[in-house]
Amino acid sequence: MGFFLSWGVKVQEKVNELKVSFEDQLSSAKSTKELEDIKIKYLGKKGPIQSLMPLLKDAANEEKPLLGKKINELKLFIASSIEERFEFLAGKELEKSLKDEEIDVSMPGRRTYTGRMHPISSMIEETAEALIQMGFSVETTPEIESDYYNYGGLNYPEDHPARDMQDTFYLSKDVLLRSHNTSIQQRIMERKQPPIRVISLGKCYRNETITSRSHVLFHQVDALYIDKDVTFADLLATLKEFYSKLFKTDVELRVRPSYFPFVEPGMEVDVKCTSCKGEGCRLCKQTGWLEVCGAGMVHPEVLKQGGLDPEVYSGFAWGGGIERIFMLRHGISDIRMFTENDVRFLSQFA
Ligand SMILES: [Zn+2]
Repeated sequence: MGFFLSWGVKVQEKVNELKVSFEDQLSSAKSTKELEDIKIKYLGKKGPIQSLMPLLKDAANEEKPLLGKKINELKLFIASSIEERFEFLAGKELEKSLKDEEIDVSMPGRRTYTGRMHPISSMIEETAEALIQMGFSVETTPEIESDYYNYGGLNYPEDHPARDMQDTFYLSKDVLLRSHNTSIQQRIMERKQPPIRVISLGKCYRNETITSRSHVLFHQVDALYIDKDVTFADLLATLKEFYSKLFKTDVELRVRPSYFPFVEPGMEVDVKCTSCKGEGCRLCKQTGWLEVCGAGMVHPEVLKQGGLDPEVYSGFAWGGGIERIFMLRHGISDIRMFTENDVRFLSQFA
């Protein structure tokens, strides 16, 4: 240790004061940002360490090396203390930022909206799937159809009131929007020889007032089966199996005589109400039965028109609404819901 003369003592005191104030500030620094400020304050060009240097020149010559050494030691002490503290605070800050980024699995998720099939599209698919399993194949027919395939070839005589049963959109005298998928019948008989087991699914158009029960646009499934020795019992068995699949339960059928020009005999088919089991409820309008389709044995005139001998071949046909089944299954009372594109309605049916 050296002995300082008064000027040297002054410098030595300054060094000690600086050290104390630095240690004070260092211990109160809470972030690396604050440390940076302290570093600039003490070690910067206009900082207190630099301002000690000019004091040296007034010190006695023999004091100068020792005082210079003291100042330098303080400078190194400040630099290394800051560095040490910096590492510590940087580590803390990193830890905190990692913690902030941690995924909290208990947070509620953000809902994503994905598209899904329209209920009618999925009902068409389900219907087709059920009938394919039963040996039918899917055929398509034009939506813009000639009068012949929609009416004439199906035993609807010219100017016959039966044509008024379906209010038709005519595009010209002989061209119309198909009013039923039964238009498949003559088209398929032109192309195929029995055994014929086909279905046609899709849009039908009728010029009706739009209400909760009827629409200008709806969807139908039509089936046609022609072979030797096809009987009424085959028709009933097929319908029972088909509607049991669609209603996902063993259904009970009831038939009522009805008239369609292309079948003989013709009938309306009812399924015992799946909701009340025949007791009577809102769904079946207290009747205990749900009307599901029109059906019958293919009319001999239709077979003849298709080039088939009614003495050799026989067949059955039925047609029913796709919306209708969906509405019965889900207790929907307004057919307009399907075309209003209300997501609140559509999203109920995954
Ligand atoms: Zn019922």
